[in-house]
Amino acid sequence: MTLLQECPACGRPTPEENLRCIYCGERLPVQGGVLGSFRFGVGRAFFLAAAILLVLFFLWLYLR
Ligand SMILES: [Zn+2]
Repeated sequence: MTLLQECPACGRPTPEENLRCIYCGERLPVQGGVLGSFRFGVGRAFFLAAAILLVLFFLWLYLR
């Protein structure tokens, strides 16, 4: 899954996880850099943990 954001310099869509525009090399805003990928990573880890907890909960309901 790749989110696209518009480059502020040339206006072309660039993958959000890139630090620089793939077309003109312009630095992208902070949300497209390390902070953005960190936030996305945390969100994905949280979703995964929630899914595992839900499965364990249903297993516990089923097995007790
Ligand atoms: Zn650009």
